[in-house]
Amino acid sequence: MVKKVIANAPGSLRAPVRRAGPAPKAGRPSRLNAARIAEIFRRFAEASPDPRTELDYLNPFTLLVAVALSAQATDNGVNKATKALFAVADTPQKMLALGEDKLREMIKTIGLYRNKAKNVIALSRQLVEVFGGEVPKEREALESLPGVGRKTANVVMNVAFGDPTIAVDTHIFRVSNRIPLAPGKTPVEVERGLERVVPDAYKLHAHHWLILHGRYVCKARRPECWRCLIADLCEFPDKTLPA
Ligand code: SF4
Repeated sequence: MVKKVIANAPGSLRAPVRRAGPAPKAGRPSRLNAARIAEIFRRFAEASPDPRTELDYLNPFTLLVAVALSAQATDNGVNKATKALFAVADTPQKMLALGEDKLREMIKTIGLYRNKAKNVIALSRQLVEVFGGEVPKEREALESLPGVGRKTANVVMNVAFGDPTIAVDTHIFRVSNRIPLAPGKTPVEVERGLERVVPDAYKLHAHHWLILHGRYVCKARRPECWRCLIADLCEFPDKTLPA
């Protein structure tokens, strides 16, 4: 018999909006021991040795723009819009030359496009005026850019600059609570927990493995536990069987 996932079970929660205030020093401890967590990542690594972001980009600037545009939108939807956009504006200078009106027109298929267009122009201006046209590598500098929060900064630091940061989006938040790798009530709490429990050797790619796992296997409404490569290591109580 197929078990139905309870809609409001902890593992089904969407990542809540981050509230202002100091980040907790550490996430809550996982119930899984270190050997089991290492085995989870060993399997992810074996199945996908070189995981990549599904956002298309050409350089750190276009990555930053793509991530900023991807909030509450699908990577596929962002890629459709940025194909033409990045052909004409792959640097902050060119983005400023394009201007907000034309940018807005080019990204109007993406949710919240008006606000995102404003932010992309504002961050392009700040990159030119403050950072010599380069995307900074440091978190503080990245987070000083308009529309760039902790999650976007983490993705850019990881993907563009090879830092072992773990950006917690709605998929990672859900998966981390379900398994539970790093239980937490907020994305920052989960991020701190993951930083603590993910073995160093796997930290660089942990973000992508967990996102892809959440997007394609450990789905929000009905996780596909019957084909999950870590099902025997996961403690989620409402595992599913094929329909
Ligand atoms: S068994 Fe796999 S798909 Fe199912 S809840 Fe656990 S991690 Fe998610």
